[in-house]
Amino acid sequence: MQGLVTKSTGSWYQVQTSDGDVVDCRIKGKFRIKGLTTTNPVAVGDIVDFELEPEQKTGLIVKLHDRKNYIIRKSINLSKQAQVIAANLDQAFLVVTLASPRTSLGFIDRFLVTAEAYDIPAALIFNKLDLFSDEGLEILADYKAIYEDIGYPCFEVSALQNHNIGQVKDALKDKVTLFSGHSGVGKSSLINRILPELELRTGDISDWSDKGMHTTTFAEMFELPFGGFLIDTPGIRELGIIDIEKQELSHFFPEMRERLNDCKFYNCRHINEPGCAVLEAVENGEIDESRYSSYLSIYHGQDTRA
Ligand code: GDP
Ligand code: ZN
Repeated sequence: MQGLVTKSTGSWYQVQTSDGDVVDCRIKGKFRIKGLTTTNPVAVGDIVDFELEPEQKTGLIVKLHDRKNYIIRKSINLSKQAQVIAANLDQAFLVVTLASPRTSLGFIDRFLVTAEAYDIPAALIFNKLDLFSDEGLEILADYKAIYEDIGYPCFEVSALQNHNIGQVKDALKDKVTLFSGHSGVGKSSLINRILPELELRTGDISDWSDKGMHTTTFAEMFELPFGGFLIDTPGIRELGIIDIEKQELSHFFPEMRERLNDCKFYNCRHINEPGCAVLEAVENGEIDESRYSSYLSIYHGQDTRA
């Protein structure tokens, strides 16, 4: 039988068949992913073959189907070990806020670079619109302009006031979408607006981290009643950036990618080379300075999280 993995605990996998049946499965034997040591070979979004265990309601996963893509998270302790978070994504949305807690542009850019590297279309959801003053709204307009200009859709919503949630739902329809975002941005509140019957736990950041309750690290996939699936990533602070070669990095900034052929040197690093089309575009304002500065921080291996 074939099914879709909708939940994983690392040892048990919830598999949904096309008839809508849900079977708890374990893995039979060892699966390996080329070039990667993983703590969990199967993840939500995976298509698997499974056999029902005799006399039982449980199953055994016997085959993992080829993936269109997958994202990993690197284990903090063992750098060589990676955890597959989710597979077969159509798009990835990052929930951000400009207020309590403010998401930095560096964090946004790292997420977008990661999505580009995985070749997964990305979008930004600016939440907590209700908190913005006029000045805040101006900053938001600036941010939106930066990202929309380079092709990333942006949504302005308030989960609290149920504002513009319909636009997000439209974008989710019939797609498999990963939701990411650091703690406190309102990701759970937003998911609750999209799927009210779920009633995900929401709360204050301090409450959660203090009590160590934010320890779930497995993604979970929810079927949307209007078509499509939403993958939540509770407790996953940031997508694992796959090892990107420095000379490849500019390919993952769309506004740089389109100018690379115009640089004088084919191996231009876009740092201080003469005849660099990227630097020229930064100088004349065609490439935003904050984006270029994110490029430099990632290039130099600086931590732009926060
Ligand atoms: P998560 O950690 O990203 O899942 O965030 P939660 O959904 O738990 O929300 C964190 C805090 O932000 C909670 O206190 C929510 O009530 C609050 N919050 C979420 N969305 C909004 C919003 O649109 N406006 C305002 N003012 N607060 C919000
Ligand atoms: Zn250049």
